[in-house]
Amino acid sequence: MKLHEYQAKDILGKSGITVPSGQLVTAADQATKATQIINGPPWVVKAQIHAGGRGKGGGIRLVQYPYEVVTATESLLGNKLVTPQTGPDGIVVNQVLIEEGIEIDREYYLSMVVDRSTGCPTMIFSPAGGMEIEETAATSSELILKEHIDPTAGWMVHNARNLIYSLDPPLPVGAIRPLMSVMGSVYKIFMTLDCTLVEINPLAVTKDRKVYALDAKINIDDNALYRHKELLQLDDTREKDPLEQMAEKYHLNYIRLEGNIGAMVNGAGLAMATMDMIKMAGAKPANFLDVGGGASEDMITKGVEIILKDRRVKAIMINIFGGILRCDVLARGVVAAARKTGIRVPLIVRMEGTNVEEGRAILRDSELKFFVARDLAEAATLVAKQVS
Ligand code: GDP
Ligand code: MN
Repeated sequence: MKLHEYQAKDILGKSGITVPSGQLVTAADQATKATQIINGPPWVVKAQIHAGGRGKGGGIRLVQYPYEVVTATESLLGNKLVTPQTGPDGIVVNQVLIEEGIEIDREYYLSMVVDRSTGCPTMIFSPAGGMEIEETAATSSELILKEHIDPTAGWMVHNARNLIYSLDPPLPVGAIRPLMSVMGSVYKIFMTLDCTLVEINPLAVTKDRKVYALDAKINIDDNALYRHKELLQLDDTREKDPLEQMAEKYHLNYIRLEGNIGAMVNGAGLAMATMDMIKMAGAKPANFLDVGGGASEDMITKGVEIILKDRRVKAIMINIFGGILRCDVLARGVVAAARKTGIRVPLIVRMEGTNVEEGRAILRDSELKFFVARDLAEAATLVAKQVS
């Protein structure tokens, strides 16, 4: 689950990190009032979407006059913002954060992730903070400092020292203590909220050596959300794919992809192998869908319905190994969905395993048209042929 910048800053602020004062607005007529409450000029008007790179896409405006706060808010709200991270379609801006503008002396980058190679929570720190951090990571990786944290020992002062004292030029002396405290808080937030990412970029140091989190990103591990019921209300679902939301509701593992072959499979490994086979046959999957081992007839029906709701889908491939999920249950679910939704594309079925004969008979006896493939390779070839 991704948090918006204003939500992440609220969490940072509560744990003692200095953030600029700000006001969230959802309509342009609230902007004038915000300028009366928030220190300025200058003000910073910031689009709240679940994607970074907003500065490069025009979603962050540094302005000097109250009327500019209003016009900037007006031009962002309700419109799509395209950034290097949103994809070409962009994302609609529903909320704007108006903040006091801070005069930046230096910009640093600070984040916490789990490093996959060591499996350790890892703090990443860089003196090259700001909008070019991705380029810096690619071209001058010596400017990206990393510190692995032993989770059994927890955060130690020497972790902060290792990062801060490798800086060249050194950090302004007055900023060392506040930065150490920010680092400790970031580690604590990361661990206690089961985050997959806490990122502050830029972490700004001002001329008077104050340290501000000017931007903030927090992502929470979905699998740990059951431990954080208080965070569920922060979930802004407006940016989520509606089909993925529907799948989530029925406990189906569904991810939308770019192609036009709908795929329904049981088991994540088999689903990945199926996507490979579709690609090898020269076509592209429209989705990943793992209905899981113990899927019910109803879940199968919902799965097929979701695939059929995707208007790009030109053919569907069903690849089921009947183990715990029996082939007859699968067949009934598919037939029910096809009847309910009115199937308009060819359906290629490959199934093996428990009750396979019964399953095939159910497909045969329905008046619906299925291609039944003998094996996975034949199914992939058949389905690719439908869209070539
Ligand atoms: P992002 O592009 O989505 O990461 O959005 P940011 O919130 O990081 O804003 C982009 C850039 O705007 C930052 O890297 C800063 O350089 C600049 N910026 C953001 N807030 C302030 C501020 O209060 N004062 C100044 N001078 N610049 C700011
Ligand atoms: Mn940023």
